[in-house]
Amino acid sequence: MLVVQKFGGTSVGDLERIQNVANRVAKTKAQGHDVVVVVSAMSGETNKLIGYAEHFSKNPSRAEMDMLLSSGERVTASLLSIALNEMGHSAVAMSGRKAGIVTDKIHTKARIESIDPSAMLQEVKEGKVVVVAGFQGVNEEGDVTTLGRGGSDLSAVAIAGALKADLCEIYTDVTGIFTTDPRIEPKAKKLEKISYDEMLELASLGAKVLQNRSVEMAKKLNVNLVTRSSFSDEEGTLITKEENIMEKPLVSGIALDRNQARISLLGVADRPGIASEIFNKLADAEVNVDMIIQNKAVDDTTNIDFTVAVSDLTDAKKVVDTFVQSGEIKADSYNEDICKVSVVGVGMKSHAGVAAKAFYTMAQNNININMISTSEIKVSMVIDEKYAELAVRSLHDAYELEK
Ligand code: ASP
Ligand code: MG
Repeated sequence: MLVVQKFGGTSVGDLERIQNVANRVAKTKAQGHDVVVVVSAMSGETNKLIGYAEHFSKNPSRAEMDMLLSSGERVTASLLSIALNEMGHSAVAMSGRKAGIVTDKIHTKARIESIDPSAMLQEVKEGKVVVVAGFQGVNEEGDVTTLGRGGSDLSAVAIAGALKADLCEIYTDVTGIFTTDPRIEPKAKKLEKISYDEMLELASLGAKVLQNRSVEMAKKLNVNLVTRSSFSDEEGTLITKEENIMEKPLVSGIALDRNQARISLLGVADRPGIASEIFNKLADAEVNVDMIIQNKAVDDTTNIDFTVAVSDLTDAKKVVDTFVQSGEIKADSYNEDICKVSVVGVGMKSHAGVAAKAFYTMAQNNININMISTSEIKVSMVIDEKYAELAVRSLHDAYELEK
């Protein structure tokens, strides 16, 4: 078997843990498998580097940030390779560039465009363990790019796809995907299997085990993903095609995203094209908009409310300001004290009443719902942040997920 093993920041958090990872890789190798490893930076390292940059500038160039941040992953890749070689396992460390990862030009949020796996395959053929620095690639111009926070998951999945690996194991500090965050609801249960689409909702909704783009890519490339802990031998959760899951539960999990901000635009000029202009400018500024609500106001204007990630708020404000200045928006307000709770499950495709039960549960707990959105497999509600945990626990109870 060819296995891609990705180790996240906590798994390589200190030198002892890097040794621990080396032992695990060596064990997989000893079982007769070929292994390509992808690593994150040591935990806290990326934030530390960002802090260094902020010491000098509030708004450092994104190209410089990529040079800086990509170094974190290179440190771990090199150390792990050194450790493996010392143990008598021939290993080689590679930067994203050497691993053949080509991205677009968007610094700090680059997308992988192609991977030429020949350098990796050559080393694997020679019996070596390849250790790739995650989170990075190179653009056409030869500049280093990074893939956005948490991007080394994406590196791992893309590499697994390019290598046609049999399995892509993502090692973190948790044993798998749970019905909800066990720190909030101790009765949360580990799922044995989950479909790409459910995981996608859980990940993009803030269940931070896997980065959402990595799940999207796994789905597209049909990569069988397993998330598991590097600190135990417990089986993890398999993320796979819906067809591979026999028993489909009505609801698989409750996700919480605290990292949301709500933007309210009041007195927006009510004319054809205005929404297109606002949201196109936001897209140009690389702001990801999530929920959108538009209401007609009493006068000739409309109100538009939408949510973005807190990290995109500054960029979003800049865009909104230009419309306020031109008079097309009368007033704007921002609220960071909100969160989004979501009920997710492929089973709801064929069952009515899932949303009604979610609303009823909020009502029972006196929680006001600010915004609602639904899809085939989820019901999301924006509520005040202070009710986040109560909402998660009562929904977990309501759908009997502890069973
Ligand atoms: N080190 C990067 C980050 O913290 C990438 C990763 O860990 O996946 O976002
Ligand atoms: Mg990470």
